[in-house]
Amino acid sequence: MSAPLAFIPTRAAALARLAEFIPVAGRYGAERNFVRPGHPNISRLSPWVQKRLLLEEEIVAAARGRWPFEAVEKFVQEVYWRTYWKGWLEQRPEAWTRWVKAVPRLRDALRAEKRSTLEAALAGQTGIAGFDDWAQELVATGYLHNHARMWFASIWIFTLKLPWELGAAFFYEHLLDGDVASNTLSWRWVAGLQTMGKTYVAKSDNIAFYTDGVHVPEVGRLASAPLNLKEEPLPNIAAWVEDPAQVASLKTYERIGLWVHPEDLAVEQGELAGLKTQGINASWPTGICVRAGWSEKVSVWTQAALRDGATWAGNHFGAEVSSCETPDLATSLVEWAKQNELQAIVAYRPFVGPWLIEALALEPALASAGIRLIWRRRTWDAEHFPHATRGYFPFWERIKSAG
Ligand SMILES: Cc1cc2nc3c(=O)[nH]c(=O)nc-3n(C[C@H](O)[C@H](O)[C@H](O)COP(=O)(O)OP(=O)(O)OC[C@H]3O[C@@H](n4cnc5c(N)ncnc54)[C@H](O)[C@@H]3O)c2cc1C
Repeated sequence: MSAPLAFIPTRAAALARLAEFIPVAGRYGAERNFVRPGHPNISRLSPWVQKRLLLEEEIVAAARGRWPFEAVEKFVQEVYWRTYWKGWLEQRPEAWTRWVKAVPRLRDALRAEKRSTLEAALAGQTGIAGFDDWAQELVATGYLHNHARMWFASIWIFTLKLPWELGAAFFYEHLLDGDVASNTLSWRWVAGLQTMGKTYVAKSDNIAFYTDGVHVPEVGRLASAPLNLKEEPLPNIAAWVEDPAQVASLKTYERIGLWVHPEDLAVEQGELAGLKTQGINASWPTGICVRAGWSEKVSVWTQAALRDGATWAGNHFGAEVSSCETPDLATSLVEWAKQNELQAIVAYRPFVGPWLIEALALEPALASAGIRLIWRRRTWDAEHFPHATRGYFPFWERIKSAG
């Protein structure tokens, strides 16, 4: 197991890690699949990007500013995977809501033998080389290399024959970069549900090669063929889009508040940078950890990231930051808005997931107090999300051809 990684939940740490990685980003394409102690060959930026303490566009600009496109194409392509998954899920949110409902049902329905397989998998005590180390690394560090995530998910589903939904819950509980879209859809991809007929079966020789021989699972211990998992087709919905009239109406308000949440913590960068705001609210809804299923470590990290994002915002906008822990975010935002005589609150709209549920509860509460809630979406997301309709490669080709 590798040493704990230094994921400090601040934008300054994110920028420092970006600055450290960019000079070696040109080697990423050739080296990214190797899983090495400390993970020096990959960016390890995901916990910060997931909270948007660092923006995708900042990463892409830094890579392309330092290297010719061909040298960092693979890296840039990976950064856009996050956008693709998010855009895809906005159009098929049931992929997430089905998973949320399935997790407790599947846990309760596990028979004794499967329950002990689950317990062994969670504790990293299956005896499968590599798998046990990754289970322990995940819990200890809050992070796993992408290739280890793929192998782990594959062994979970096809070798241990555990429900993929419970594996996704284990990841989402412990990953500091836990992301509803990337996590749920990647597990579905490994299981063969995301791209119909395409599964990912982990192979011993591939694991041995890409771990430099550190982990060599016995061939006979790993499933050699996938399971044929099936599901009802997911409904496609018209995804939410920003309303230009609402955005324009912002000019008509004298007293505007800004709500900051951990789905977008670099509010001072980009679209909202010029906002005149009377106050910033960065409160923490106490029940969200249990509702989302986060570990203590993930919860503490996320709260610290929120504090950091709010501090940057406070300094940038020259506005007071109000933050509390509250069992009822909607009521506490209404009280804060009234105290500050706010006419409107503006925020980036959270993506499909637990923060969107918090966000949607704000709408009726603020409306009944006569306070407008104006949702924004970054141009980056608004431009790319609608194209995440089919597979990744048409999505990527469009971006690439736009230069
Ligand atoms: C089963 C499974 C579950 C996953 N769950 C998550 C999750 O909860 N949260 C999460 O952020 N990523 C998830 N991923 C994607 C990927 O593993 C991580 O984003 C990546 O390992 C993060 O490490 P890094 O920052 O060093 O990535 P790098 O390899 O350095 O890539 C740079 C950036 O590109 C993005 N990226 C790279 N690969 C992917 C990918 N496959 N999908 C989406 N974005 C990508 C990330 O923002 C990453 O920070 C999952 C992948 C699998 C196979």
